[in-house]
Amino acid sequence: MIGAVDIGGTKLAVGLVAESGKVLAKSETLTGADSNYSAGLENIARVLREMAQNARVEITGIGIGSTGPVNPLTGEFGEVDFLPHWRRQNPVQYLAKLFGVKVALENDADAGALAEAELGHQVIDPAGPPCSCGFRGCWESLAAGPAMAIWTRNQVSANDSHRTAEQICQLAREGDELARRAVEREAYYLGLGLANLINLFAPDMIVLGGSIMKSALLFLEGIRKTIGRGCRFVPHEKTELALASLGEDANLIGAARVWHHRYGEEG
Ligand SMILES: [Zn+2]
Repeated sequence: MIGAVDIGGTKLAVGLVAESGKVLAKSETLTGADSNYSAGLENIARVLREMAQNARVEITGIGIGSTGPVNPLTGEFGEVDFLPHWRRQNPVQYLAKLFGVKVALENDADAGALAEAELGHQVIDPAGPPCSCGFRGCWESLAAGPAMAIWTRNQVSANDSHRTAEQICQLAREGDELARRAVEREAYYLGLGLANLINLFAPDMIVLGGSIMKSALLFLEGIRKTIGRGCRFVPHEKTELALASLGEDANLIGAARVWHHRYGEEG
């Protein structure tokens, strides 16, 4: 039974994941820039112990997937912007000592759970909105859920309430004109980024994840249209677009896979 820890920019998830990938227990807490490292790690350890006790299982390894730069060899966090107190700390040593098991740390994108954190910084439009990476118009700043929400907000008067990407998708399903335009634009930018990947790598399959893909049916046609327009020199129709079936647990399961990849039979 692997203890899985998924450290994101705004939340931290801890869980128990069986070798089959089944999530036996899961708990989430919010994190923020003021999050204290020692208290955070103690909390992770406490939750893992309680979960193992309740499930009457023994933790045989711990996998950690983290957003942001990490050093998988030393087990240290790098310059994690969103958790400044966690920089240069080593959760691998701490948890390995405490639980007496092997602990593996990876960047969650490298872990293969979701690739959007890396792939998100391909420039789609150099005149686009500024991005945290230093460039303008990255795929992430144009096609991620928040980008869709910002674009929609900029189209309406300041008095109108702010809508999330999820709300916009719901409105589009109900036929709202602005929401439908937002969806069309979203599908176009998603398609551009995917078209770049297909032109570069001609992969057999691209797995789409993330919260925006909960509304995938709204986007897939537009995505395919954009890909078809710009991928004429590669057999783009052979690239299957699949939806991440792991849903919201994808990162947690990815964190457990980090351990199997490093220390299990796969490793
Ligand atoms: Zn960027």
